[in-house]
Amino acid sequence: MKQYRNFVDGAFVDGTPTFLDVNPVDGSPVAEVHEADAALVDAAVAAARRALEGPWGRTTTAERCRLLRAVADEIEDRAEDLLCAEVADTGKPERIARQLDVARAAANFRTFADVAAAEGTESFLTEFGEGGRAFNYAVRKPLGVVAVIVPWNLPLLLLTWKLAPALACGNTVVVKPSEETPGSATVLAEILVDVGIPPGVVNVVHGFGKGSSGEFLTWHPGIDGITFTGSSATGTAIMAAAAPRVRPVSFELGGKNPALVFADCDLDATVDGLTRSVFANTGQVCLCTERVYVQRPVFDQVAERLTAAARSLRLGRPHDPAVTMGPLISAEHQRKVLRSYALAEKAGATVLTGGGIASVSDELADGFWVEPTLWTGLTNADTVVREEIFGPAAALIPFDDEDEAVALANDSEYGLAASVWTSDISRGHRVAHRMNTGIAWVNTWFLRELRSPFGGMGRSGLGREGGRHSLDFYTETTNVCVAL
Ligand code: NAD
Repeated sequence: MKQYRNFVDGAFVDGTPTFLDVNPVDGSPVAEVHEADAALVDAAVAAARRALEGPWGRTTTAERCRLLRAVADEIEDRAEDLLCAEVADTGKPERIARQLDVARAAANFRTFADVAAAEGTESFLTEFGEGGRAFNYAVRKPLGVVAVIVPWNLPLLLLTWKLAPALACGNTVVVKPSEETPGSATVLAEILVDVGIPPGVVNVVHGFGKGSSGEFLTWHPGIDGITFTGSSATGTAIMAAAAPRVRPVSFELGGKNPALVFADCDLDATVDGLTRSVFANTGQVCLCTERVYVQRPVFDQVAERLTAAARSLRLGRPHDPAVTMGPLISAEHQRKVLRSYALAEKAGATVLTGGGIASVSDELADGFWVEPTLWTGLTNADTVVREEIFGPAAALIPFDDEDEAVALANDSEYGLAASVWTSDISRGHRVAHRMNTGIAWVNTWFLRELRSPFGGMGRSGLGREGGRHSLDFYTETTNVCVAL
């Protein structure tokens, strides 16, 4: 069977014990994964420290940007290998993985090469006393050895979103991919070797969270900062682990994202947008919509059309070009999503469509399939409307006017993303400004500008990454004040 080994100090190394990486489409084994124990995590952190203090620490921004661009080129050259690993681990349709995940991985490296190359720092001429003047300027330095802990839903995209700026800023890194999706990070490590990233600059340790490599990294004294994408609960645990040593953290966490559909919207475009925002990646995108607030005059029409769109989704094997939706990531996640489905019905929801396990075909019976699901009859008081499901499901809830829509949308402990659907451009801006979310889209969803700030409010995260905002996290600054 294929082996996914740890990557430490430029070499692939065994770990014990091993665990099975499973294909969610049919439950078949993909690879044996070597878990990193505490000693191997130590070795990875030590290798990263040596690399930081070695020649890598003296590279110029221009040299690092050249390497980042070379990584992007190599990602494109090895697209098929990355695609195979990603699709086997996640079960997502191949077409989507090619267009989104692999393309974005290359774009992440190019964007942060451009951003780092263009970056300047602020300076101030300070006047004091009787004609005294001083020149203040800030010098950026790498944050140090950075732990990059990432989830399974967009494994390569989210890893490279953090790895690229970390490297651009001159850091060294220990990556902990999700235990569910170790494949693409392992292929990426091979790419980094081929491109000439020096040993120790990037290390990859496999394993789980609590009691395993993930947790070992978070309290490791050799780690200077932690960047994490994953659930809000894990974010809380990581924050507690980092607190005693006051290490900086950057968190991209869960969401319970609203869509606000006004009666004046373009219905065709809105239903298309909602179909993507509710069901993309089987609802397993932090930005996916799980609450759809619809103005009463168009409520029935939106419900009817979205239901038809949900029913037209085609579930099946990733390589079938007609397939538009894959399985959930694991049996455990399938159980969690099905619990939410049951909870919705217990709360009195009307099920417009779905609500259970999807039976796709006999040969895929052991995969982790669920039906795309829509409900009406729920309110913001119901748990399924308050807690993240992270599956292909949403509640449709009516509203009368703009103020009510805004209040309903903002009535959440999460604050990641909102989308506003209206033909009134003033209303679009106005409502977007009132969203307590890190991103507010108007008449679109998931359209990303990689130089803009990305992150969440409340339980959805801490800090912003993207463009120069990433540089702020992955560097420390020293302000130099020179009396003239
Ligand atoms: P998760 O929190 O269970 O795991 C994420 C990573 O953290 C994995 O690598 C895991 O092994 C590790 N981990 C778990 N417990 C840990 C601990 N105590 N210490 C250190 N590491 C630990 O999340 P998941 O189920 O893999 O991903 C789904 C979640 O991620 C959803 O909540 C989703 O909304 C969120 N997410 C957020 C964003 C964003 O940008 N805001 C993007 C994607 C996913």
